Amino acid sequence: MNKFIEQLKKKSVLLSDGAWGTMLQAKGLGAGECPERWNLTHRDIVFSVAKGYAEAGSDMVETNSFGGSRIKLKECGLDDRTFEVNRIAAEISREAIGDEGIVMGSMGPTGKILMMGEVTPEEMYEAFAEQARGLEAGGADVAMIETMMDIEEAKIALKAVRENTSLPAICSFTFDRTGMGEYRTMMGHAPADVVRAMKEAGADMVGANCGHGIEQMVPIAREMKETDPEMPLLIQANAGEPHIHGDTTVFDESPEVTGSFVPQLLDLGVEVIGGCCGTTPDHIREIKRQIEAFNK
Ligand SMILES: [Zn+2]
Repeated sequence: MNKFIEQLKKKSVLLSDGAWGTMLQAKGLGAGECPERWNLTHRDIVFSVAKGYAEAGSDMVETNSFGGSRIKLKECGLDDRTFEVNRIAAEISREAIGDEGIVMGSMGPTGKILMMGEVTPEEMYEAFAEQARGLEAGGADVAMIETMMDIEEAKIALKAVRENTSLPAICSFTFDRTGMGEYRTMMGHAPADVVRAMKEAGADMVGANCGHGIEQMVPIAREMKETDPEMPLLIQANAGEPHIHGDTTVFDESPEVTGSFVPQLLDLGVEVIGGCCGTTPDHIREIKRQIEAFNK
């Protein structure tokens, strides 16, 4: 059986990791630089990010491949090395977490909008298929299709993973709060829509990541679990609301604040908890402490 599916069955909750972009920037990645290039040029630094999370107690670490589709890599002239960039990303995270740990192959949006005709479904499918094959070749255990806004794009990514690899897949979306106090993706999908559509499309897990801090994840998680209590759920919140300072984006939710909402997520039955932009190994340690206290 796949290691991710096996551990999901065995443990009540899995701890994932925190931010990658934030950590790479703290270690010198420039504002306009392509993070995935560092898999080729700064392997030791990319390794240190994954290792930092492994040492903080993460059961699963992501890969430095969020923008690793051919469509995204073209923006930094790396499109011809797509497979290699993704394979190496997975190899680095595998080395950091060891054979027991789970490597989540990160697959972010292409940045192109299907509805506007900026890309065809076939081009998108090919891009995700190539990325997923690279991640699997490097040793990923599960595809982490994340920060999605459009159900159609997520379905294409999921289909590409299912038809081109043997990896299970998580489909995670980003929600904003509307003036009416409801949660919607930028394309207008509610958490309930996402759960139904992704289950029907064959996702192994759904999720919510990024966004505006962990407090908003509680109502999102509730809606997702109420829609389908059987569907495993991942929550990876940003460390609060992003603020712009000069040319950098900062997040100031402390590990303690993040941790204080973990019991509510666990009460709802969330299966995987980690962090997104702005979170650090300290946030992961605090989430771990809260999970352990909850399970006592
Ligand atoms: Zn984020």
